[in-house]
Amino acid sequence: MLSFNAARTAKEAARETAIVGEFDVVVLGGGPAGIAAAAAAARGGQSVLLVERYGFLGGMGTAAGVTNFCGLYANVFGAIRQVVHGVSDDLLAGIARLGGLNDPHLIFNKTYGRAYDTAAFKLAADELLLSSGVELLFHALAVGVIMADAETVQGLIVETKSGRGIVLARMFIDCSGDADLAAWAGAGFERGDASGNTLYPSLMFRLNGVDASRAKDASAQVAARMAEAEKAGARFPRKTPIIKPQRDNIEWRVNVTQLANADGSAVDGTDAAQFSAGETEGRRQVSQAYQFIKTTPGFETSYIVDIPPQIGVRETRRLVGQYQLTEADVLQCASFDDTIGVNGWPLELHEAGDVIFRWQPVPDSRGFNHLPYRMLLPRTLGNVLVAGRCASMSHEGQSAARVSGACFVMGQAAGTAAALAIDGQCTTHQIDIGTLQGKLVEHGAYLGRDV
Ligand SMILES: Cc1cc2nc3c(=O)[nH]c(=O)nc-3n(C[C@H](O)[C@H](O)[C@H](O)COP(=O)(O)OP(=O)(O)OC[C@H]3O[C@@H](n4cnc5c(N)ncnc54)[C@H](O)[C@@H]3O)c2cc1C
Repeated sequence: MLSFNAARTAKEAARETAIVGEFDVVVLGGGPAGIAAAAAAARGGQSVLLVERYGFLGGMGTAAGVTNFCGLYANVFGAIRQVVHGVSDDLLAGIARLGGLNDPHLIFNKTYGRAYDTAAFKLAADELLLSSGVELLFHALAVGVIMADAETVQGLIVETKSGRGIVLARMFIDCSGDADLAAWAGAGFERGDASGNTLYPSLMFRLNGVDASRAKDASAQVAARMAEAEKAGARFPRKTPIIKPQRDNIEWRVNVTQLANADGSAVDGTDAAQFSAGETEGRRQVSQAYQFIKTTPGFETSYIVDIPPQIGVRETRRLVGQYQLTEADVLQCASFDDTIGVNGWPLELHEAGDVIFRWQPVPDSRGFNHLPYRMLLPRTLGNVLVAGRCASMSHEGQSAARVSGACFVMGQAAGTAAALAIDGQCTTHQIDIGTLQGKLVEHGAYLGRDV
């Protein structure tokens, strides 16, 4: 049996590693945060390399089949408004041009989400980054860093089919979702709640051949049928199924699985053995869920059209940075002087067996909190920013600001800040916040200071 924590070791031969490139900015990870970070840094005049382990962009949004943008809108005193703008507008316009973007749909009668097609997301993201001048290195797994000193990363080590290489840069932006780069560089990080429980992963899937006129509100129908079945002794990995139509309503996405280890703890996406076992367990649950959903009106002739490349990981390492976004910040719609944009998504806690939503007081508040620049800043490292689901947030704060909308915001701010630090020949801690905010607004971002 495999064990990655074994005491036994064997020595590898020391080796010289080739320096395969040198850039102003290296972005690790091509999810929502990495896409926005790379585009913003390149548009800020820097040479940018984005390193991604898969052969396409989108992160969980494509690799885990999320197919739905949350957090782009907020319920502002009862009016649902788009509150995330900037690079994400260009990406959404690209997806829409390919016919892959749904109109906004209501979520819990409180805000909007926007479903999209995975293939269109991949194509639009390629187009966005290549036209912004970003260089892409796909099929490259980052495995470590070279430090210039305790506060400065000099290079990122990547493993590729051509072998191992080092990419040098002046600034690094960690959008790996797992804070890989920041952790290798010695930044502090946390996992999970006070007891170490992280949000549970899920394996998404999509069904085709659905009769939408009869499927209607399938989430509620299936939830009610699951509750009935449980009374008769059936057991499901998780309550609160989310079953929604895609662009063409014969196709529906299903978010209903929950991946736990034998002891009930959440599968850890940074543990090789758990991550691997999670894949087969996820597919077993997909098969089981499909058999159940198929007996629901409208789904009788449906079939599984897609299982994405990986299980969807919601939370692993989170940076402990200059400021941690908290539950209170989200629920009280906090303001920060160093706002870089906003989060309008509620707490969405994937706990054992269920999903718990805790909303901002809507419609009696502005429905969003500011995201402060400090949540991107490791405490000591001077040339590293961390954006996306692994930025500096508490477990509860992350359950809200991990969704795509806030990740786009953080990524754009990180890319813009990296460019400013390079131009100003200073650290990411020393850039002028007013100048950063001015640049973000100039490039279309909404900072949430008018309400
Ligand atoms: C099942 C599920 C359902 C969700 N539903 C929704 C939803 O409906 N709406 C919504 O907006 N959000 C949803 N989310 C959340 C959202 O999709 C993610 O939190 C978001 O994608 C995070 O963006 P990110 O850029 O921070 O990280 P990620 O999307 O995780 O991207 C990280 C990228 O880095 C790459 N990477 C990681 N480590 C390395 C390495 N060492 N070397 C090279 N590459 C690396 C990965 O391959 C990946 O492409 C869901 C998440 C899950 C898991």
